[in-house]
Amino acid sequence: MARNILVVAEVRNGAIRPVSFECIAAGREIAEGGAITAVLLGQQGVDASELIRRGADRVVVVKGDHLANYTPDGWLSALQQVYLQEKPDVVLMGHTGIGRDLLPRFAMRNAAGMISDAIAVKVEGGQVVFTRPIYAGKAYATQVVKDGLIVATIRPNNVAALEADPGRTGDVSEAEAASVHLRTVVKEVVRKATTGVDLTAAKVVVAGGRGVRSAEGFKPLYELAEVLGGAVGASRAAADAGYCDYALQIGQTGKTVTPDLYIACGISGAIQHLAGMSASKVIVAINKDPDAPIFKVADYGIVGDLFEVVPLLTREFKALLG
Ligand code: FAD
Repeated sequence: MARNILVVAEVRNGAIRPVSFECIAAGREIAEGGAITAVLLGQQGVDASELIRRGADRVVVVKGDHLANYTPDGWLSALQQVYLQEKPDVVLMGHTGIGRDLLPRFAMRNAAGMISDAIAVKVEGGQVVFTRPIYAGKAYATQVVKDGLIVATIRPNNVAALEADPGRTGDVSEAEAASVHLRTVVKEVVRKATTGVDLTAAKVVVAGGRGVRSAEGFKPLYELAEVLGGAVGASRAAADAGYCDYALQIGQTGKTVTPDLYIACGISGAIQHLAGMSASKVIVAINKDPDAPIFKVADYGIVGDLFEVVPLLTREFKALLG
């Protein structure tokens, strides 16, 4: 049965977020010959045809000054407008801050079944079956929406995006957003200081825990992340202690990351932390306690003082990578 898919794409720092391409790939898994339409809500200034090269058949760019920054009222109204026009069978978006806020509202408005934080999707016995982690990643549930519109958010870094096909073409059209009463407005967006690499999309994450001991203690971690072209993350204990911003928190109540390389520095490895990083491809743990639980999930363990080990790694990688 062919299914038409609508992917709500997102832009950050002037570029389409990788999870939007991953949603297109997820859509391809279940479209069975249906069309994939990507929608950009008020995010002009990006090359919308990149979505076509990554597997979408069409792109709709909804224009409207009030859509430049996310507001629930503005984006929900614009998404509803596109939905009523396109009438897709499935609506997908990344399980990002905006995806988590927008899609449940959209599902509610349309009395649709909502699957949140899926890590895989396939067609089985004619049904769209989603897999999602439960109990902080200790188990997996498979879920279906029994009938009607299917709405789902896809966890970043879990579905492989399709390679960009430079020869792929498709229609990019524009629509004007209907005016809407906004109950909230964004006055100013203040960007947090980071290495500039999106934590959830980073190929390398250098994360610090309580063992880092202070905000100053995070400096060597930033230096290592810089050399490796990665992002800095943290445990909740580090964020709670004020060593870093909560935006860096990884885990059950923070961000989920699946980089190629995860370097845990002074992190004990509590289950709530593992929930956000245990799917990383290679895990390196640096901890001065040889019995720290993090070593159970680590591919490589370094028992030592992070303040000695991290600068050594930075020096060696600098020499290696030029
Ligand atoms: P600790 O457990 O205190 O570990 C510090 C580690 O640093 C120790 O292993 C120590 O040996 C090592 N160390 C100290 N000094 C050095 C040094 N100089 N060199 C090397 N190693 C050193 N936690 C999260 O991370 N993310 C979450 O999303 C999250 N959500 C939670 C949700 C709930 C509902 C609850 C109850 C808890 C949650 N937690 C979360 C908290 C979690 O249970 C742990 O308390 C937290 O992960 C511990 O952080 P940590 O490993 O940095 O600190």
